[in-house]
Amino acid sequence: MGLAFQNIAIVGCGPGGLASAMFLARQGHQVTLFERFSEPKPLGSGLLIQPSGQDVLESLGLLPEIKRLASPVHQLHGISTHKGRRALDMQYKHAKAPVSALGIHRASLFDVLIEAVRLMKIPIEVNNEFIGVNESGSDIKPLFSTGGHDGTFDLLIDASGARTPLATGRIRKLSYGAFWATVDMPAKHQIAPNALDQRYWHASKMAGIMPVGINPATGNPGAAIFWSEKPENTDQVINAGIERFRSEFVSLWPEAEPFVAQIGSMDELTMAVYEHRTGRPDTSTRLYSVGDSWHCTSPQLGQGANMALLDAKVLAKAIERAETTKDISRSYRRSRSFHINLYQLLSVIFTPLYQSNGRFLPFIRDVAIHNFARLPLVRSLITYTVSGVLGLKLFGQRRN
Ligand SMILES: Cc1cc2nc3c(=O)[nH]c(=O)nc-3n(C[C@H](O)[C@H](O)[C@H](O)COP(=O)(O)OP(=O)(O)OC[C@H]3O[C@@H](n4cnc5c(N)ncnc54)[C@H](O)[C@@H]3O)c2cc1C
Repeated sequence: MGLAFQNIAIVGCGPGGLASAMFLARQGHQVTLFERFSEPKPLGSGLLIQPSGQDVLESLGLLPEIKRLASPVHQLHGISTHKGRRALDMQYKHAKAPVSALGIHRASLFDVLIEAVRLMKIPIEVNNEFIGVNESGSDIKPLFSTGGHDGTFDLLIDASGARTPLATGRIRKLSYGAFWATVDMPAKHQIAPNALDQRYWHASKMAGIMPVGINPATGNPGAAIFWSEKPENTDQVINAGIERFRSEFVSLWPEAEPFVAQIGSMDELTMAVYEHRTGRPDTSTRLYSVGDSWHCTSPQLGQGANMALLDAKVLAKAIERAETTKDISRSYRRSRSFHINLYQLLSVIFTPLYQSNGRFLPFIRDVAIHNFARLPLVRSLITYTVSGVLGLKLFGQRRN
């Protein structure tokens, strides 16, 4: 049976770190979480929990609570406004065993995970800005800018996200980010219910709305709205003011008016900047990366949090089954690399179709989606891709 570790350190209280802590504590390991903030907190607005991520939350016993706070999303839908053509149409019902995605506010996902971690009495050491590691043959020590904790650990899990100090692989800043805000779902609106809906002007403008279950700020049903923008234009858009923002949004998508009308000032919007990086698999047998610290990309395919949850589950399983520390790295790498590389590649291919400057790729998108994506085989392939299970099924990892 597996190795008995006295001590495992996990850096980062995002979905990857919190899920890892729960899985490993349940296996009987002594786990300590480290976080840079004085109070762990979520950043951002909504995200989609795909069927792949729901599987992991189910293993943690958290899916019922997540479902209570989230909104089912049955469809991803988008229209090219200059052509009036469908440019995105993915319905979860086209999977063999259909499971809708769950639109949820990041704070709700975070609250459910952190509450479970606190109930398990897993210690969280805050105000610890992770800057590197010191590794010897028999243990590993996380280094923090403040000095912080001076203990050593048997294993260290880096779940500190896209900006990890241990980043490997080439970082590519993406040319578009997005302004995000959370609003209440208007009592009356003409947006498709239970859908992530988007409007595009070629691929240089993109506006989106998705239900996020309960809006934590008001307790009412909520929606995330997003507007794609180049990072270098951030100040210009903020300085132009909220009236201008609202009118741009509504001129692309008039039906969005009751949503954007709720944004009172630019302070209610957060600009998110994305980068793409696929790190090299860990070579140390005491240091493992989960989630964005290993692989990050644009949120266009809606997979990041799901990937982090999958990493956490697979790594914990590798640790549970290992006879030696080498077994952990072999098994973790073998189980996750294919799926991660596949989705990183798909993200590189698909992101420019929806966020880029040229006209050719959006033209291909409009023609392809309009004419081919309704063919049953193509339709199923797209559904499995967005569900996060492409590649997982091939390797039989999806369920335990
Ligand atoms: C706007 C936007 C929309 C997105 N939409 C989706 C979506 O629909 N579906 C989806 O699955 N994914 C989405 N993603 C991606 C998703 O948010 C990330 O992939 C996911 O949060 C990664 O989880 P993680 O645990 O690896 O890292 P993170 O969530 O980034 O958590 C990292 C944690 O580590 C802490 N930390 C960071 N640096 C340090 C340090 N030096 N020392 C100590 N602690 C540190 C942070 O404070 C944080 O608590 C989106 C991302 C963005 C920006």
